Amino acid sequence: MSDLVSASNLAPLLSTLRRLSPRLEEDLDWPAPQLQAMSEQGVLGWVVPEEYGGANISSAELVDGYDHLASACLLSTFVLTQQNGAAQRIAGSTNESLKAELLPAIASGELSATVGISHLTTSRQHLKSPVVQVTRRGDGWVFQGNVPWVTGGPAADVVVTGGTLDDNRQILAAIRTDSPGFQVEKTVHMLALNASQTGSVALNNVVVPNADLIAGPIERVMSAGQGGGTGSLTTSALAMGAARASIRGLKEEAERRAELLEICQPLETELERITTDRGAVATGQADSDNPHRTAESIRSRANSLVLRSSQALLASTKGAGFVTGHLAERAVREAMFFLVWSCPQPVVTTALREFACLTEGS
Ligand SMILES: Cc1cc2nc3c(=O)[nH]c(=O)nc-3n(C[C@H](O)[C@H](O)[C@H](O)COP(=O)(O)OP(=O)(O)OC[C@H]3O[C@@H](n4cnc5c(N)ncnc54)[C@H](O)[C@@H]3O)c2cc1C
Repeated sequence: MSDLVSASNLAPLLSTLRRLSPRLEEDLDWPAPQLQAMSEQGVLGWVVPEEYGGANISSAELVDGYDHLASACLLSTFVLTQQNGAAQRIAGSTNESLKAELLPAIASGELSATVGISHLTTSRQHLKSPVVQVTRRGDGWVFQGNVPWVTGGPAADVVVTGGTLDDNRQILAAIRTDSPGFQVEKTVHMLALNASQTGSVALNNVVVPNADLIAGPIERVMSAGQGGGTGSLTTSALAMGAARASIRGLKEEAERRAELLEICQPLETELERITTDRGAVATGQADSDNPHRTAESIRSRANSLVLRSSQALLASTKGAGFVTGHLAERAVREAMFFLVWSCPQPVVTTALREFACLTEGS
């Protein structure tokens, strides 16, 4: 494994991200300086193949890198995962000219990309008709509908998104944000992570040429290719990085109040255990009969840990931690994100059962 994503190699970047992080809550500006700092460290090329100017690091390195970055700044790391999701989908395509055009520009930071794919996986699945419909026209495709969730839409040059044809097959494409009919709707105000500038995108008869097609038409286009699916180790790595930041905060409190040590220690041990299991899964060394070494178990445990560790930090920092701008109040709000972001139904069910104290056999 290379040294590229080690905490020591990333140390200057992590300290920059930590320093800039509070500002994101104050002015809610797009994290451009954070992305610039990542670009200078080569982070924007992590998932881009070497022939297109990237580093193409392994999945195990990638999740370790995300964990370190998220422990310094969850918001900018989350934004990075959305750009990387787009890059991974493009890199996994057989459309060579699209790859040659977009991937070097993504790796160098010249082009900003994001994804709007949740309506093909977790969002709006209970509706009778697809929210984005696609029809064939000449040598291209016409997209009509509303992409419910796109992070960083206002800053994006390209959005990787998809739609469904009459026969239920789907396509995935790289849509240029300056295409006629492409409209970023007003970003929504959320419980946390507002500087991610998340909202919906309207596609009003947007014509997408074949040249920008990434995959399809096939059924369940998101099951094909790479890019980290719903509830992937990537999503767990972010939850674990956020938990790491809360545990670090708790340990700082414990330096002055020894009674907190008995709280820090089990949380830290739990984090180490999940990190070990995540490493085994990421490197393909997990026993198939070990129930803890699955992406689903890791995400469920990471979710539980990030919620509990942020609340432990809040309880220990008392009223001061409840005041806007304190690390603890932000950590508690940001932890809630993992209950809804890219969260597969079994993980949601585990969380709901935990909230209701419905353990096995009870
Ligand atoms: C901050 C943030 C950033 C995100 N960024 C991105 C992004 O960049 N790209 C991306 O692709 N995705 C993104 N997502 C989407 C995310 O991954 C999930 O897909 C999304 O949170 C799912 O929530 P939903 O409200 O769309 O789900 P839905 O399932 O559509 O639920 C919406 C509502 O519908 C109702 N409902 C749900 N299920 C049923 C049912 N079975 N029967 C009847 N009613 C039902 C409920 O009232 C529910 O509140 C983001 C999410 C968040 C919170």
